[in-house]
Amino acid sequence: MIRVDVDGVSVATGHYIGGERVDSPDTFEVRSPLDWNWCLAKVSRGGAHEARLAIDAAVAAFPDWAALGVEGRGVYLDRLADLIDANIETIAHVECLDMAMLEESLRLRVIARGARNFRAYAQLAREYVSREWESNGTRNAVTRMPAGATVVITPWNAPFMLSTWKCAPALAAGNTVILKPAEWSPLSCSLLMDLVSQAGLPPGVFNVVQGLGEEVGAALTNDPRVRRISFTGSPETGRIIGQAAARNLVPFTAELGGKGPFIVFGDADIEAAAVKAAVMFDDGGQVCLAGTRLLVQDTVYDSFVERLRHYAAQHVAGDSREASTTLSPLIHPEHLERVDGFVQRAVAGGDHILFGGQRSVTGLWFEPTVIVPASNQSEVVQHEIFGPVLTLQRFRDDDEAVTLANSTPYGLSAIVYTSSDERAQRVGEQLRAGTVWVNCFLVRDLTAPFGGFGISGVGREGGDYALDFYSDLKMLQVKEGTTHG
Ligand code: NAD
Repeated sequence: MIRVDVDGVSVATGHYIGGERVDSPDTFEVRSPLDWNWCLAKVSRGGAHEARLAIDAAVAAFPDWAALGVEGRGVYLDRLADLIDANIETIAHVECLDMAMLEESLRLRVIARGARNFRAYAQLAREYVSREWESNGTRNAVTRMPAGATVVITPWNAPFMLSTWKCAPALAAGNTVILKPAEWSPLSCSLLMDLVSQAGLPPGVFNVVQGLGEEVGAALTNDPRVRRISFTGSPETGRIIGQAAARNLVPFTAELGGKGPFIVFGDADIEAAAVKAAVMFDDGGQVCLAGTRLLVQDTVYDSFVERLRHYAAQHVAGDSREASTTLSPLIHPEHLERVDGFVQRAVAGGDHILFGGQRSVTGLWFEPTVIVPASNQSEVVQHEIFGPVLTLQRFRDDDEAVTLANSTPYGLSAIVYTSSDERAQRVGEQLRAGTVWVNCFLVRDLTAPFGGFGISGVGREGGDYALDFYSDLKMLQVKEGTTHG
């Protein structure tokens, strides 16, 4: 088993299959966005062979894991949650080096959410074993049956939290899991497998395969033995995985990109709205749920813009390990090029850069940027950029705000600032988005449904919605008076 030292933390660079570390002869390099010359690790590059081994292991482990029941499985998942809590600092440090999210926010918030995912789903699964009622002369029961080997594929942003968010309900529901993290930030999921081993999960229950999406990811999602596929990433990859799922008639969920509106009404607390709008630059704007289209009512447009400019200017670009840093670099030089490309094309197409627009010459940082588009059809309005780049448009009244808000193919999230309860309710109902936050952002309730309208997603996870997805629901009907004892 190959392990490397990543700034004082020992990280296994292989896969985790059937309870063992497995190394591949081929590897890919993982570099730190904090310093692109820093190669953190050479990680095993799995392919069809490793995908097959992992699915073999998951299929073999499935009957016993399913038979353990919610109580038996819950013991393991609670133990894993405790181990995550005990290792937050280490995981946060490696994830910070790997994908450059701010270390403080990883330590205080994001990694702990991984532990909460396991605890919450272990408990939710215990609370519903079957639903029973009588009708038409029969006693009826709906039970959740574990579905089988489950493939989970995750993106590079917040990989630990996003991976555990999907793996936890899959495991709690009685499925065995093969997780493939993104190749740009695979290290924290390797650390997770050390904890899975310490927690004593039976071999094959929870596996990780490392490698590229079009190689090992494609091999995993095309294997007909897989009974569920859960994906988070871009709409483009979602379409490819959806086709694989359709070929094998496998249920799949997809949590995809976003282009959320951030609507500021004239009656809002403008100061609070501007402070929150500047938060959209956090993590280099690499947040699917961010409200990246600012829609501001005419009456408060100038005062909002002045405040936003002020708060955006307070962002401090720097090393994500430092507490003073608020603006992290982008994940990868290719992604920096992509973000810069959007801004360059916006300028060439007649959009106006209100502020920002420059990339750093010394690293992967991009300035907090606000663009006033020439039209609602501008590329920067209609496409997810996934960087610290917001668009700014004005509106006259509620109808125009809702029309603009609903005018992209996405529908993951929306943010509304208003002091009117009536408007919050009415506008909230009209917005086409999986989650609408009024006067707040990123408040997450793990029991709530989560997903997107339009090209932002297929299906819902979260709470019972996730447990239903990872289960086969069975209806049992017994004619009353025909059995006894
Ligand atoms: P991506 O689609 O490029 O990759 C996501 C994952 O899919 C990676 O693990 C990749 O290796 C894998 N993959 C790529 N091609 C594949 C294939 N042919 N078969 C199987 N797997 C394949 O996305 P990304 O660039 O890693 O992540 C950014 C995107 O993710 C953005 O669009 C962002 O909005 C979205 N995202 C959505 C949510 C959400 O909850 N809705 C959360 C985070 C990120």
